[in-house]
This record gives sequence, structure tokens and C-alpha cells, in this order.
Amino acid sequence: MAGEPQADCLFCKIVEGHIPATVVRETETTVAFRDINPQAPTHVLVIPKVHYPDAASLAAAEPAVAADILREAAQVAADEKIDDHGYRIVFNTGSGAGQTVWHAHAHVLGGRGLQWPPG
Ligand code: AMP
Repeated sequence: MAGEPQADCLFCKIVEGHIPATVVRETETTVAFRDINPQAPTHVLVIPKVHYPDAASLAAAEPAVAADILREAAQVAADEKIDDHGYRIVFNTGSGAGQTVWHAHAHVLGGRGLQWPPG
């Protein structure tokens, strides 16, 4: 059921502590941890503890938690001191956009120059 932990979901396993991650922040509703394959000096993923397959379905079902993700992403940027030069929050949505893990997550990227448009 949407919102419930999924046995085959990597990020649900991180939320439950069954797979290790370098956690940088945790709240009642979210976990933030370092991406295993960083694309910038700071590359942190912010995820909801509840399981929804992407940001759109999370926002539709639990808008308060979607707002928590954005608030936490900003707090990560402040903690990492990447907010003064600018940073990027990315929600890859759909395989055509590069989504590979089907548990909603925000990428927080910064600490280097970021090109626009993205690839
Ligand atoms: P996306 O391609 O937008 O779905 O993003 C998934 C991200 O999860 C990628 O940037 C991966 O490098 C990252 N990732 C996959 N497995 C792990 C893991 N065990 N710990 C931390 N990050 C991971």
C-alpha cells in the first residue's frame, strides 16, 4: 500500500537501518544521507520515511511531508555551507529523466559550479 514500507525498496531499507548510509540529518518524517556516487562535492539525498514512488505521488498524498523534504534540503545546504554560492535541488521523475530508485528523493547538489541547462 502507498505510504507503507516496501520489502524490495532500497531506500525503505535505509530508513529502517537495514542498509547502512551516511546519515547527515534525520527528522520525524525525513532522512538525509550522502549519495553513494556523488556528482558534486556535496551530494545528499533527502527522502521521506514513508514510501511513495516519486515526488509527484508524495506531494499528492502527503503535501506536508513534501514540504518537509524541501525544508530539509535547504537545511542540508546551510549545514554544508553551499547556500552562499548556490545549490540545486533535483527530483528526477521517471526513467527518462534518470530516476533509478522508486522511492521519492531530492538530490541536493552543490560545492561546484552547476551548468544550466542540465544534461
Ligand atoms: P535517481 O537516479 O534520481 O533515482 O537517484 C538515485 C540515487 O541513489 C543515485 O544518485 C545513486 O547514486 C543513489 N544511491 C543508490 N544506492 C545508494 C545507497 N546505497 N546509498 C546512497 N545512495 C545511493
